Amino acid sequence: MTHDEKICWFCEAERADKTYQVNLKKEEQRELVEVPACSNCQSIHKKTVKNFLILFFTIAVGGAVATMLYLLVSETEFSGSGIPIGAGIALAWSIPALFIAFLWNKKISKGVKPQRKILQYPPLKAKLDAGYNITPLA
Ligand SMILES: [Zn+2]
Repeated sequence: MTHDEKICWFCEAERADKTYQVNLKKEEQRELVEVPACSNCQSIHKKTVKNFLILFFTIAVGGAVATMLYLLVSETEFSGSGIPIGAGIALAWSIPALFIAFLWNKKISKGVKPQRKILQYPPLKAKLDAGYNITPLA
């Protein structure tokens, strides 16, 4: 299957106005493969990690703080054992928070391949199959 170089590889819809450059090396041979991308996909890729962390902290920390405040207001006795209870609440909130942040992030980047799918770009994949390795830009 071939891919039109003028079309973004990540959404396969927009015109590519940017590229991701991947440096390849096989013994002494060096090659540069350019993967077409549109600015929209690039900005989604840049935001993905940041969005995920913001969502996660908002839900996890916000939920834990709200629960602890509620417990304080409701006069639940947890003096002395307050630290493990607090840690327990924070931990209990972090699991659903992780899950919600993951799903939300997936929704935001709907129809856009994650950045790691760059490896499936056919010309790049062909090089990797031929024994090339990805090297950082010199
Ligand atoms: Zn795109």
